[in-house]
Amino acid sequence: MRKDFLPFSKPEFSEADIQAVGDVLRSGWITTGPHAAKFEEEFGAYTGCKGAVALVSATAGMHVALTALKIGPGDEVITPAMTWVSTANLIVLAGATPVFVDVDRDTLMILADRLSSAVTEKTKLIVPVHYAGAPADLAPIRSLAAGRGIPLIEDAAHAAGTEYRGEKVGARGTSIFSFHPIKNMTTGEGGMVCSDDPAFLDRIRRLKFHGLGVDAFDRQMQGRSPQAEVIEPGYKYNLTDIAAVLGRRQLARLDEFNRRRTELAMLYREAFAAVPEVIPLRDPPYPHRHAWHLFIVRLDVDRAGMDRDTFMGELKKRNIGSGLHFRAIHLQKYFRETLGFKRGLLPNTEWNSDRILSLPLFPGMTPEDVGDVVTAVKEVLASRK
Ligand SMILES: *Cc1c(COP(=O)(O)O)cnc(C)c1O
Repeated sequence: MRKDFLPFSKPEFSEADIQAVGDVLRSGWITTGPHAAKFEEEFGAYTGCKGAVALVSATAGMHVALTALKIGPGDEVITPAMTWVSTANLIVLAGATPVFVDVDRDTLMILADRLSSAVTEKTKLIVPVHYAGAPADLAPIRSLAAGRGIPLIEDAAHAAGTEYRGEKVGARGTSIFSFHPIKNMTTGEGGMVCSDDPAFLDRIRRLKFHGLGVDAFDRQMQGRSPQAEVIEPGYKYNLTDIAAVLGRRQLARLDEFNRRRTELAMLYREAFAAVPEVIPLRDPPYPHRHAWHLFIVRLDVDRAGMDRDTFMGELKKRNIGSGLHFRAIHLQKYFRETLGFKRGLLPNTEWNSDRILSLPLFPGMTPEDVGDVVTAVKEVLASRK
């Protein structure tokens, strides 16, 4: 058995990264400042988007985006239930109604044809999720949204570096990225709203800093105009320079990180081809570059003779960490008991919610670590036969 615990995710920092954070601390300017401005520029250049606004989290980005779109009571927002809870929570908190559509059973992405039957005259927004590092099939989703005049905001939390048909996720439309520690690049906590709509970005910029008519940091002023006044009530979601300097350094290594993730994912794939109880996600059929945010497998619970939670527990006993991305939102307590969602509504989402787990995958892992995971998986399966 493996001697030390292998976590399912671990951020990667160099001594130079630590030094760079120290330099910001010593500089005397630690909140939103020149590094945040540079980080926005560099992330915009990397994805190819017209403009980018850094914030404290992707959730904060979604909050200001929903506010900018005036989502409120009587409105419906379409999103998958197979995603992190943040979007659905914010829809509910805005007084609007989340409308969950089922996902593809093997890619976990929402599809345009299912979306189309969920659209009503109350639909004010569609939020597709790029799952696990692969892109959603944007072309038909974009044409559906454009045809019905419905805005689209892509949840790109898993998609830093992902490409769809030769274009980076973020290059077009509006996308929200996350820099939470488990994501492909991290700022501790952080997020970025990318958009090709300058007027929308201006509102995001304003709403993320008190609704003042200025940014948290003005390059010309080297600070913030003390005379600035509130244009509309806003929030306090600006990213600090302590975080932004890390983001700049992580971004410079993102392609290298994703290359390592891809190599490890291919090793998993090869090894699990001979393990029928373990079913990896399928690559989408359209042209793309996968960022391998997560290596997700579904446990064939009948063949394995145990449920997924037991399986995760058995892996942990063998010093292998794993994650669960995600428990279907509509089956969680509040959504069941208060909003009345029931099992049976979203068959593919539910099937996966009962079977998925994320195996360790991070740039600092070695091929030997992958071997340890595969060995542990096989041992757990053998122990029950
Ligand atoms: C991580 C994540 C988020 C939220 O990101 P934060 O930066 O933690 O707010 C949103 N959606 C998905 C799919 C995520 O995985």
